Amino acid sequence: MKKKFYIKLYHHTIAEDYEYNYDLVAEHIAGLGMDGVMTPVVLEHAQGQPGNESLKFDREHLIRLKTALKKRAIDFIPIVQFFQDAYCFEHHITSRPINNQGEIYPWTTDWYNPICPTERGFQLRRLELVKEVVRTLKPIAISLDFLRFPFFWEESFHITTINEVEEYCFCSRCLEQFQRAVPSFSAKESDTHNIAEHIYNTYADKWVEWKTRVIADYCQEVVNAVKSESPQTQTFFQLVAVDEMLPSPFTTEWLTGQNAQRLASIVDFLSPMLYHNVLEQKPEWVIRTVHNLAKKTEGTLLPTIQISDRFAGLSLKTEEIIRLIENLTLQPQVNGIAMFHFGALVDWLYHKVVLNEKYNALAQMLGSLR
Ligand SMILES: [Zn+2]
Repeated sequence: MKKKFYIKLYHHTIAEDYEYNYDLVAEHIAGLGMDGVMTPVVLEHAQGQPGNESLKFDREHLIRLKTALKKRAIDFIPIVQFFQDAYCFEHHITSRPINNQGEIYPWTTDWYNPICPTERGFQLRRLELVKEVVRTLKPIAISLDFLRFPFFWEESFHITTINEVEEYCFCSRCLEQFQRAVPSFSAKESDTHNIAEHIYNTYADKWVEWKTRVIADYCQEVVNAVKSESPQTQTFFQLVAVDEMLPSPFTTEWLTGQNAQRLASIVDFLSPMLYHNVLEQKPEWVIRTVHNLAKKTEGTLLPTIQISDRFAGLSLKTEEIIRLIENLTLQPQVNGIAMFHFGALVDWLYHKVVLNEKYNALAQMLGSLR
């Protein structure tokens, strides 16, 4: 099977580095040898009306991008973010997740603003958004992102003891739903810290099972919504995979509710986010994690790897990325590789795009793999 190469592209790269010159972006991505571009759908909450604010997104921009990419035979794949939304976090108090100490997730101007995944009203609005995106953009595939219980996994390498694990969500709605699923459990007359302890001591397996069912059931609804609009549109699932960084008994599945095996039977591709540099890991960690996932599930994998060093402030060697891509393409369950992100390969300098050394090396290598 031919392996496909994808790259993530952000709105700000097109705006700031390319000043909305869509054809030039498409030309450079084609020059890199990419088969597809993944780009987040950006919601326009600020102009929205209460009740339907989740349905407005940067539609015209995405259509222009898709058209420019299509001229160069590059697939366009929108990314829809589920339980992550700064506007809803700020305005809908009941959407804010609560951790195992009873603390509300702190409001931050940083990028991560997680939403409790059990609020039905929010879930339904996102289903409408997905349908609207598929109906309007008719993409070949759609990427499902942040479809999980809140977990700032990019910070997970700082966790050393179980007391440092911040688990979500212990809001009253989540605890009521858990109690309905497991009637012998009672959360009454106790503070959240004690409730969490009680769950960990007596109901841990049932708690993890409940969380994974919440995520899998909703994921199935999302996939049904996609297929109802366009049966041939494929689904990619953005998976967290940081088991090695977590103290036992916690696992990624426990914290996020993402069960790889279960999800692989629902979506077309599992896309583990393996940003080794962000997590202060060696590239071997990526290979190991893909190998472990392949053992756990029969699904097709589309690892997302990091090519940007803007995040952690560490340098990311070009040879290291190239070795990693070559190694991953040898894994039988790996159907393609997504790279994070295109902005890492370009610099806008005196109104002239300068493609850097990493771009040229990658283009050469991807060409040689075909
Ligand atoms: Zn909750």
